[in-house]
Amino acid sequence: MVDIRSVHKSFGSLQVLRGIDLEVRSGEVAVVLGPSGSGKSTLLRAINHLEKVDSGWISVGGSLVGYRRQGDRLYELREREILRQRTRIGFVFQNFNLFPHLTVLENIVEAPISALRRPRKEAVRAAEALLDRVGLADKAAAYPRQLSGGQQQRVAIARALALEPELLLFDEPTSALDPELVGEVLDVIKDLAHQGTTMIVVTHEIGFAREVADTVVFMDGGRIVERGTPAEVLDAPRHERTKAFLSKVL
Ligand code: ATP
Ligand code: MG
Repeated sequence: MVDIRSVHKSFGSLQVLRGIDLEVRSGEVAVVLGPSGSGKSTLLRAINHLEKVDSGWISVGGSLVGYRRQGDRLYELREREILRQRTRIGFVFQNFNLFPHLTVLENIVEAPISALRRPRKEAVRAAEALLDRVGLADKAAAYPRQLSGGQQQRVAIARALALEPELLLFDEPTSALDPELVGEVLDVIKDLAHQGTTMIVVTHEIGFAREVADTVVFMDGGRIVERGTPAEVLDAPRHERTKAFLSKVL
């Protein structure tokens, strides 16, 4: 489903991704761990073509991200094609990024109506079902500022799901939340995992990783240092850097 091959990315002289190879199969959950600055967000952004890679390639659902292959050459997609491709990949950020001037319901129906040209009635019905799924059926008319951080993040997840993406990316979805609100957001993500949603989740929530990850990836310095099942990486890490990192977050 997701295939990342030999991806390199630099910002000026700073090499942020130094040859990333990663495969995530359909229905699987990959959890990405690693210290600050190791390149986790840049990798997620590259999967959505929010960052252009310098070399290597990424494909999602069989399509190259950001490029079209013709013969043995790659051509970058036009802006409109990139936007269309991005609707296939949901992205949930640390800071929710809801539209503050729109109600919860309008936040969710905006993209299906404008990007997918769904009839409004149909989009509203789907949004109501999604709100129910994230436990916020009674908040459709509220504005983001009237919600707790955990509720806002659950709306952000519903908004991402409204585009029926084939892949969901999460960048530290709970790290901006008060501790008592983390569980309700992780529970929603766990439900999605159990329903077979393909996801890549950057998080330091080790308990969550242990429970839902098929693969745990530890990044450091722009490389994948270690990968494996949660039992392998979390309980029996082989690399010193993984051990040092886990001893700090556990
Ligand atoms: P954190 O855990 O703090 O979120 P991260 O693993 O997500 O860290 P990235 O955000 O991918 O790390 O950043 C990796 C490195 O690339 C950092 O040194 C960062 O300062 C740098 N970087 C990221 N984006 C840019 C940019 N647009 N321009 C220049 N440098 C950047
Ligand atoms: Mg980051």
